[in-house]
Amino acid sequence: MDKKYDKGGQRVTSCCGCYSTYCDEVLCCKSCYAEVEFGEGDGSEFRAAVDPDLYYKNLFAAEEVEAGVDFREDGEF
Ligand SMILES: [Zn+2]
Repeated sequence: MDKKYDKGGQRVTSCCGCYSTYCDEVLCCKSCYAEVEFGEGDGSEFRAAVDPDLYYKNLFAAEEVEAGVDFREDGEF
């Protein structure tokens, strides 16, 4: 299956394009709870050109904006 990435370049699950979480010892898709491979949506894998430090910096900046003002998803409407 092709690898999928979010807008910022973090790898997400191949099944749903979502993030993943550990259920006991198994890494699972947060959307369908199927078992996924290490690196899919767990925050450890990024596009080759992406700097993870910068990714998280942008993520936290976006969350501050979201908390402070009325947040609107890009291109949803
Ligand atoms: Zn899934």
